[in-house]
Parts: sequence; structure tokens; C-alpha cells
Amino acid sequence: MNIIAELRHDFPLLTRTVDGQPLIYLDSGATSQKPQCVIDEINDFYRKNNANVHRGLHSLSEITTSKYEQVRVKLAKYLAVSAQEIVWTSGATESINIVAAGIAKSLSQGDIILISALEHHANIVPWQQAAKLSGASLQVMPVDQQGVLDLASALDMIAQLQPKVVACTHASNTLGNINDVEAIIKAAKKADSVTVIDGAQAFLHLRPNLSHLDCDFYVGSAHKALGPTGVGFLFGKYNKLNALPIFKTGGEMIETVTFSTTTYRNAPAKFEPGTPNISGVLGFGAALDYLDNIDYDRLQTYEQALFRYCLDALQNIEGITIYGDTENNIGTISFNYRAEHHYDIATLLNSYGVALRSGHHCTQPLISELGIAGTLRVSLAFYNSHADVDAFISALKSSIELIE
Ligand code: PLP
Repeated sequence: MNIIAELRHDFPLLTRTVDGQPLIYLDSGATSQKPQCVIDEINDFYRKNNANVHRGLHSLSEITTSKYEQVRVKLAKYLAVSAQEIVWTSGATESINIVAAGIAKSLSQGDIILISALEHHANIVPWQQAAKLSGASLQVMPVDQQGVLDLASALDMIAQLQPKVVACTHASNTLGNINDVEAIIKAAKKADSVTVIDGAQAFLHLRPNLSHLDCDFYVGSAHKALGPTGVGFLFGKYNKLNALPIFKTGGEMIETVTFSTTTYRNAPAKFEPGTPNISGVLGFGAALDYLDNIDYDRLQTYEQALFRYCLDALQNIEGITIYGDTENNIGTISFNYRAEHHYDIATLLNSYGVALRSGHHCTQPLISELGIAGTLRVSLAFYNSHADVDAFISALKSSIELIE
């Protein structure tokens, strides 16, 4: 019996049917499913401990504040950083916005922001805004025809352009490629650039060790790592994080307020105004505990074996084109069938209970670099089984028969 495969029983949603068909969930890149312990934790909070954090002296508030802050410590441990370097946000998108808007204030004409061609819109548009507001220019590290980052060109651009910022995804949400962010961060350090790594996809599959990676900022979303929606984090090396200007303002992030002036607390509090997503953070805490109990090597071995199994089966279907890096991959496969529209195939697959994503996956520039309109995307997680892949391949073959 495979221990990892057995974990799927912890995910109640995976037992449901869709229009009478068993659900085959292959869309974990969009959002992961949640284990029962995460659902229970959120339920318990509202049933037993609901109170605001950082405010009351009463017992409920103290219990909740303590649990809430413990999750910050858990996440810091998971990432191998310190708790004061973690800011709670609403997701990776907000985290990048905090950094980009903050850095924009210190940029000026002639400065360069360097991103990669693989970025999600969340790691493009905030930098575009930063460039627009500051007069800096946005430049792009290229990919090859398969959509793999051209590392030599990227390193060369960093050395030549001496960008103020290098922002790059750890793993592509569209293609699954794992970027060599270690090499990029090293080169960026030599060029004295600030490094911002988008870990939205990598967080669940790669367990990043940020002390080792040594980037300045790293972002993620709880919902892509078994946690609830509406919660994310921004890691920043403390001096750099604390030096960022404030982003949103309101209660709790202040030290003193008068009608004429306000002073702010230090990070992370200065970036956390208002009542946070308390149940979301607690749910994420349960997700981190759950992940902590899974042997990482086992999980990696299982996910990679499942990825190869799916890749081989797809490659055996005539007319399938697969994009991206099939060697260094978190378990995400983007493909098309001949010139058929991805939307049509996704619609047919849905009728067999297969949930996957089709389209540009919030990476329009990457999709146009590949010269296509979009792809079908299978994004696997450890709770998927070989039977899921078999059912998907069988549904795909039937869909192809129907459109031929
Ligand atoms: N970055 C990457 C690579 C992503 O895949 C996503 C979401 O798909 C995001 C950023 C944005 O995450 P969120 O929508 O949770 O803020």
C-alpha cells in the first residue's frame, strides 16, 4: 500500500460526483483541495473560539491571538525564516502588490525591473504599474520555444542590465517548470538587485527553504497549499521588509494617531491593518501541520512518479503537443490536441467528471510567446491517484473520438 496515495481519504471533496460521474480533480494549480483537519479547524474557530485578535484582554481573544500568532511561527519554521519576517496578506497577489508598490517609490527613470516571460499576471501587472509610476522600464528574461526559461540569457541580462529588481516565479503555473531561482538570486545579488520570488505554485510541491535560497522577498497563497482562500503571506528579509513603505492603512498597524499625524508600527504589523482573515490563518495553520506530518521525500517521489505516468500516457496519444519543461516540473502538464480548441476539449472532459483548466492560465504573454491561443492544463497533487490519471486519459480519448 502506498502511504501517500492513502492520504486522498483525508480530502472529503474527492469522493463527490459531478453529474453522476466520480470527480477527477486535476486543477490543483488553480486551488488545492482541503483535508478534513483544515475544515475542522475553521469550523472549531467559529464554534468555540470566535473573537478578534490583538484587541481584547478577555480569554477568547487571548486564545485566538495566541493560536493566530502560532501559525506565523509555524509558517516561518516551514520556510526556515523568522516569524517577524512573515506578513499575512489576502494572497500572493496582494503580497506582490505590497512589494511592487513599495519599491516603486524608490525607483526612477533609467532603473530596470526584470521579470521572466513565465510570470503569472500577478507578477507582471504590479511591476508594470511600478514602472509606470516611477519611470523605470520593465524588461523580460526570455523563454525558449518550449517555454523553458533561457537561463544563460537571464543571467546575462542580470549582469548586463544591473536591474533594481529581479522578480521571478519559482515554478510556472501554466507549464509546471521549476526555475533555477537559486542561480537567478545569486546573479541578482551580485548585481545588487532586490529579489522577489513568486512561490504560489512551488510552496506545496517544493517546500522552499528561504534561508538557503536567500531571496529578499517570497510570496505564496494558502489556498494553493491545502489552506483556505483569502489568506497568503509575504516573506521579506527583515530590514528590507521593514524599510518598505506602508501599503494599506487603518487600525492595528499604527503606533499613535492624532488628527494631524500618525506613526506606524514596525513590520509585520505595519502591513496588517484591520481585522485579518483569522479563520483563514488558523485553517492554514492546520494545513501546515498536515504537511509537516508528510515525509517530504516520499511526497516528492510519489508526485514525480504520478507526473511521469501521466506524461507518458499523454505522449502516447497521437496528436498531443506538450509544452514546458518535462524534466524539472512540479507536476503540471500543459497540452493541446492537434489544432482543436482547448475550450472544446475541456468542456467534453467536464462531462466525464474531469476538472482541469483550459485557457491562458493568467499568463497571456507566455501563451503568446508559445504562439498558441491557450492550453489544457493538468495540475497534479499528492492526493491524486494513478486511477485518476487512467480515468482522465480514458476521458480524453473518448473526447477526441467525439470531435474527430
Ligand atoms: N502566482 C502564481 C504563479 C499563481 O499561480 C497564482 C495563482 O494562480 C498567483 C500568483 C496569484 O495567486 P492568488 O490568486 O492566490 O493571489
